[in-house]
Amino acid sequence: MATLGNPTNTIAVLQRYGFNFQKRYGQNFLIDANILEKIIAAAGVGRNDCVLEIGPGIGTMTQYLCENAREVVAVEIDKKLIPILEQDTLSAYDNITIINEDILKVDINAIVQEKNDGKPVKVVANLPYYITTPIIMGLFESHVPLDSITIMVQKEVAERMQVGPGTKDYGALSLAVQYYARPEVMLTVPAGCFMPRPNVDSAVIRLTCHDRPPVAVSDEKRMFDVIRASFNQRRKTLVNGLGNAAGLNVKKEQVLSALEKMGLPPATRGETLTLAEFAVLTDLLNE
Ligand code: SAM
Repeated sequence: MATLGNPTNTIAVLQRYGFNFQKRYGQNFLIDANILEKIIAAAGVGRNDCVLEIGPGIGTMTQYLCENAREVVAVEIDKKLIPILEQDTLSAYDNITIINEDILKVDINAIVQEKNDGKPVKVVANLPYYITTPIIMGLFESHVPLDSITIMVQKEVAERMQVGPGTKDYGALSLAVQYYARPEVMLTVPAGCFMPRPNVDSAVIRLTCHDRPPVAVSDEKRMFDVIRASFNQRRKTLVNGLGNAAGLNVKKEQVLSALEKMGLPPATRGETLTLAEFAVLTDLLNE
């Protein structure tokens, strides 16, 4: 079994199996041991932890996880990678379960139940960027027992997750992430740390999940509908944006009256509202 996390051993494994990178699966493998150690430290993975890794690739980060965690479950969509993981790069470990599935289709709650008695797991992932948001939101919304999610994302997306009102990057993603977790950018990762090299720089962000949401709202789903509608038409005032939004069933007068009760001016835009204010606005619109 080769220790991965450097270009020489990565190329050797790829050649041994005649593996070709699949663009559609966003395959950019880590080749920097220093970065891998930092990710494990950022995730705070220790001997008692059960870790769910999404997209192990050839098992580079998985080796580090197996060395540090009690139990690792790795879900990989590409069936061509499975023999590499099973027969080669992870064959020395007895604390790994490899599942050949699309993470968006697998029953993660059942995995957590089976492998960790339903207790919170740590998710660690270096994902294709185009499925980052559906995966994170899927994990949160299906109420998988989670301790934290430590994930490699495009640098700009990490920024979007952790900013607050009044900044250009603030939006529905910031609010959704902050409702469920405390985001913290842990490190930036230059494109040269991957093979093949991606076009953008990346960052590792840790989302430490709240025990309970930081704000109370009577209808969580409705609040996210309001948030999405507010940012869909970013340049519009809330009165015009929410009043026109399809499927929301809200009249302009209701929005005006809610803003007045909140002590906010009629021309208020969504980008200036905090999460707590969106919760109050949603409850007022529901009255
Ligand atoms: N973790 C490895 C590393 O750091 O070197 C590989 C990272 S690579 C950016 C993303 C991995 O996710 C690939 O192995 C890809 O095949 C896998 N993947 C892509 N879409 C997936 C999905 N929907 N479910 C599970 N794995 C997926």
